[in-house]
Amino acid sequence: MSQAKASHEHLLRVFTKPEGRDSRLSQIEQHLSDNLADFLSRHVVASDTSLEEIEQDFKVSSIPQQPQFVSEHADMLLNKLVANSVNTYSPRFIGHMTSALPYFHLSLAKLMVGLNQNLVKIETSKAFTPLERQVLGMMHQLVFEQDEGFYQQHLHSADHSLGSFCSGGTLANITALWVARNRLLAPTEGFRGIDREGLSAAMAHYGYRRLVVVSSRRGHYSLGKAVDVLGLGREQLVTLPCPGQRLDPAQALAEGKRIRQQGGRVMALVGIAGTTETGHIDPLDELADVARELDCHLHVDAAWGGATLFSRRHKELLKGIERADSVTLDAHKQMYVPMGAGMVLFRDPKAGNAVRHHAQYILRQGSKDLGATSLEGSRNGMAMMLYASLHILGRAGYELLIDKSLAMARTFAAMIDEHPEFELTTAPTLCLLTYRYCPAALQEKMAHQPKLAEQVNPLLDELTVAIQKHQRESGHSFVSRTRFETDRYPQQPINVFRVVLANPLTTEQDLQAVLNEQVRIARNLDWDPELSRHCQ
Ligand SMILES: *Cc1c(COP(=O)(O)O)cnc(C)c1O
Repeated sequence: MSQAKASHEHLLRVFTKPEGRDSRLSQIEQHLSDNLADFLSRHVVASDTSLEEIEQDFKVSSIPQQPQFVSEHADMLLNKLVANSVNTYSPRFIGHMTSALPYFHLSLAKLMVGLNQNLVKIETSKAFTPLERQVLGMMHQLVFEQDEGFYQQHLHSADHSLGSFCSGGTLANITALWVARNRLLAPTEGFRGIDREGLSAAMAHYGYRRLVVVSSRRGHYSLGKAVDVLGLGREQLVTLPCPGQRLDPAQALAEGKRIRQQGGRVMALVGIAGTTETGHIDPLDELADVARELDCHLHVDAAWGGATLFSRRHKELLKGIERADSVTLDAHKQMYVPMGAGMVLFRDPKAGNAVRHHAQYILRQGSKDLGATSLEGSRNGMAMMLYASLHILGRAGYELLIDKSLAMARTFAAMIDEHPEFELTTAPTLCLLTYRYCPAALQEKMAHQPKLAEQVNPLLDELTVAIQKHQRESGHSFVSRTRFETDRYPQQPINVFRVVLANPLTTEQDLQAVLNEQVRIARNLDWDPELSRHCQ
């Protein structure tokens, strides 16, 4: 093979000349767009390779001195990278929130890169800015259901923002709490605001000994990052135990009062609409009452569960979300948009002004640049993907998808319940559930002998880990794993399999295959003799 040269000519070609039809990269491109499933099943193949082996392919830390031909490089990517990726489109990959996408996103991704717009400012995005504002308005309307006049007034207003588009739920949660913090520690007589004077001056001015965020133990770890970044400190994220996997409003209120009595201030109460681990939904309406009583910001983390609002049958589960001050949504979860599509929405269109920043060369006073109220700087035109999905699928399409996922989760829960070797550990509220391998005879014994349960649970924990690991390594199917207290064992956290049934291509046969594989793996493992004895 001839060597590429670092000449001006070569480099200009890289920027301008489309690859010839016969080049390796265009073959890959063609295959991808002709039949993605076939491409993935052919090229994402080496699922049993260990991470240590793969690291051998990525161990050189010097930058290549000489250029490489694009075709040559494409082959390298196929062999080293694609082959050892994870096939998240597989209907038997049911362990995480990342799944198959509608086919048109592949072409739209190309369009997005082709245009390479930067949403931080209008000068580099033009129509993309109004489009993003419209998308934020559409999602705002889904959550807060304001009237037409409200949206006409605020959608494209330079002094308002209905929300902020960002890379994901993490950034959305941080943005929401950033706004909550700055609104609480706002400028007033003798104080220029936390954004000017900083946290310690603000605390001194307002006389707060601590600023606290209250959530349940099932809150997403991004809340911990948020209180860290915002200068509050991780210890100021108070996570309450959650009987039935939901935050108890009475307990939240009592905790808030206690904090206040001790000279602290609750900055925000966070309700979760679809916990990451079990998919449970906090009692949002009651939490809104608590937030009102504590006079604090109510944030609802609906990164996962927000899309449930599309379902007329199930939206009641999120009752009260419209009373939140801010809401996080992730379009790259149950809205089937590629990753990088998070949003925070504000009920009050003026809320975002608490974090408004200006700069001389962009984001000038009075400009409609989205970057003025976003945490991130340069951002791509991901809003276009959501815009497209909202049109191509419509409310009706999303409703079908959500209803189907929830129905599938209920089907799987019934299959687990009826199966003689599995135990359902949390039933699905949305399309998430957890379970573990635990033969019925043993379940029966444990139910009647708490002491035995205490002894056996750690042994079952080991079994759960081993089954999950073998299943992941064999690469035919995948469930994830987590650990928490269940209602049956409130004092003893247990390991469980976690399943997310969001891939519309997953069938009952796939679910049966997942269970069959787990039974096969369990039977072939070396069991702790004590556990075997108890199972007899
Ligand atoms: C996924 C998720 C997040 C984080 O979102 P990213 O997009 O991964 O940053 C936050 N909260 C909840 C409840 C989630 O499910």
